[in-house]
Amino acid sequence: MYMISACLAGVHCRYDHSDNGIDKIKDLIKNQPSIIVCPEQIGGLTTPRPAAEISGGDGNDVLEGKARIINKAGEDVTDEFVKGALEALEIAEEYGVTKAILKSRSPSCGCGHIYDGTFSGKKIDGDGVLAALLKKSGIDVVTEDELEK
Ligand code: SF4
Repeated sequence: MYMISACLAGVHCRYDHSDNGIDKIKDLIKNQPSIIVCPEQIGGLTTPRPAAEISGGDGNDVLEGKARIINKAGEDVTDEFVKGALEALEIAEEYGVTKAILKSRSPSCGCGHIYDGTFSGKKIDGDGVLAALLKKSGIDVVTEDELEK
């Protein structure tokens, strides 16, 4: 069972109410058992919403209480991000998800690289909150970039 970032499936759940739909992912969903989730929406954030980045670390640091997630309006949205990731993990466990394909560079879904918290486009090594949580639970996480290779 796959867990897939909803925006990659074409759902308009991005912060700017657009999507990141990719034909290869849509074909995979048609042919493989898959669950699509948007952890930021599940966590209670609205769409559209201000862009947000992790400040002071990555998703692992957020889960350990060492970093926060701040949106472009200066609001702390850490609680919503963590709540959404925890709920997505519950769904993953309930349905026996073994592999996740998540949107690269997102503060929730990014895996391997995320933005550095300055809203300047600079990237750092690290995972988003959901990617970090799924990995800790033994789920294989990749991004759409690896799938395209
Ligand atoms: Fe939602 Fe993740 Fe896509 Fe962001 S990257 S819109 S949190 S599914």
